[in-house]
Amino acid sequence: MLTSALTEPAIPALLKPLLDRGFTQGALPIWIVPVVIIVLFTVRGIAQFASKYALSRVAADGMVAVRQQLFDRLLHADLSLFGQQSASQLANTIVYEVQIGSSQLVQAFLNLARDGLTVVALLAYLIYLNWKLTLIVLVLVPVVAVVLKVLSRRLYKVTRESQTATDELAYVVEENVLAHRMVRLHAAQAQQAARFEVLSRQLRNLALKATRASAASMPIAQIITALALSIIIAIALSEGQGNPTDGVTVGGFVAFIGAILMLVGPTRRLADIINPITRGVAALERGIELMDSVHREVDAAPSHARTPERARGDVTLKRVDVHYNDDTAPALDAVDLHVSAGETVALVGPSGAGKTTLVNLLPRFVQASSGQVLLDGTDIADWPLAALRNQFALVSQEVTMFDDSVAANVALGAREIDRARVQRCLEQANLAEHVAALPHGIDTHVGHNATTFSGGQRQRLAIARALYKDAPILLLDEATSALDTQSEHWVQEALEQAMKGRTTLVIAHRLSTINHADRIIVMDHGRIVEQGTHVELMKLGGLYVRLHGSAAAVAASATAAE
Ligand code: ADP
Repeated sequence: MLTSALTEPAIPALLKPLLDRGFTQGALPIWIVPVVIIVLFTVRGIAQFASKYALSRVAADGMVAVRQQLFDRLLHADLSLFGQQSASQLANTIVYEVQIGSSQLVQAFLNLARDGLTVVALLAYLIYLNWKLTLIVLVLVPVVAVVLKVLSRRLYKVTRESQTATDELAYVVEENVLAHRMVRLHAAQAQQAARFEVLSRQLRNLALKATRASAASMPIAQIITALALSIIIAIALSEGQGNPTDGVTVGGFVAFIGAILMLVGPTRRLADIINPITRGVAALERGIELMDSVHREVDAAPSHARTPERARGDVTLKRVDVHYNDDTAPALDAVDLHVSAGETVALVGPSGAGKTTLVNLLPRFVQASSGQVLLDGTDIADWPLAALRNQFALVSQEVTMFDDSVAANVALGAREIDRARVQRCLEQANLAEHVAALPHGIDTHVGHNATTFSGGQRQRLAIARALYKDAPILLLDEATSALDTQSEHWVQEALEQAMKGRTTLVIAHRLSTINHADRIIVMDHGRIVEQGTHVELMKLGGLYVRLHGSAAAVAASATAAE
């Protein structure tokens, strides 16, 4: 950058001898000026390329590091993050904002350093030529600076606002992708389009506002430059007239004006520097906020904690309360529960009763506000987090698959994929036949979230994943959506395989699952209100009977519909 800056004053400096002597006295050899020009521009070009490339490279490496850190935050974030920020917001911050931030700042730094140095070099040359005139130029610089500062504040504000608006717009798209069936079923297209348009227009207005702020800064700087130039020319002319023998030669004057004109470009870019800097900082700030504000999951297990490689699977809850918010009723209210190793327990109850919360407590996706959760007699807070989570396999309602091969999805998290084991698990999950028919068998890519699989197949894929993990405790959140009888039968069979020899906690919606359970826990308003076997609970004639009645009615109508 320094090299490139130093070549700048050399250009007007060439004009001086050319005009003073080159044309009039012919004292310069003809070839010298063209050769110097070629050399000068070659050196300048190489210097500019090298500086830009080197800086971009540093920035690119920095971007990789920042992104990696941000993604690491995402992977280890406390689960509360996912309640606060949407997927598109997080994707935006990690993928786009970091990119915008770094590229803008690189541009800003390039301009600042290269143009800053150029301005210094040109000013030095100007002072050497005529210090009095140069002083006048310098007086005008602070005026420009103040004007630009005012503009920069406004631009910063608008830039932040438009980032938020971009997020909201992306969120509408995300929602409409997720809920595409609902939107069609409810004919909500017009409504959604209107929502999109409002936000889209809002974004347009903000963009125009930002453009007004940034576009105004350039002409203002130029007008001020023009003003300065006029004053200088006027003074130089009057000085030359007053004292014709003074040192102001034609060549000297042209070189001076030339240098001033060359100052305009870099000054203008420097004036514009607020633009990339504010944009870049505002963009990166969101990433930095994400880094600073996101808490890592606490893993405060004492280092002496001695936990087995594989738990037996004995779970105890002692007067456990869970409060998500201070002002709402607790999601779990003084729950006592003991599940022996190998037992299958079905959780039933109306929606909002706290079943999901109870299941989420065990792998510490949710923290107990008070009370104790024990696994094999050891408080789960004393288990190292990774070791604790190693004890659980989860089959949840919404099956989530990664855009990878069937084998990689089944062996999720495994360092090396045991293909024979994948095959066995697929067989146990009643999915081997379907997978064998795929073009590349277990190496077939399933696509985003395995959308090419049917609902029942995806569930069996999830069960195969749980089987592969072979954890002592199985957490099951049965899908509420009904499958056809054949599919249902296969899923049920696969689940029975998965439950074999494991402690199982299942949020049950199906009668068949409930009937298979060793014990049924009936929950309501965060409490366990009844428990026992199906027969015992039916005799009790309480909430279970009412729930069972409606479930039986649903099952009966489903069978009737067959
Ligand atoms: P169930 O699984 O039985 O339907 P949940 O455990 O999901 O019940 O919910 C129990 C209560 O906790 C509900 O009142 C629900 O609104 C509340 N709740 C669940 N998850 C959250 C959360 N992440 N933030 C705040 N409240 C929650």
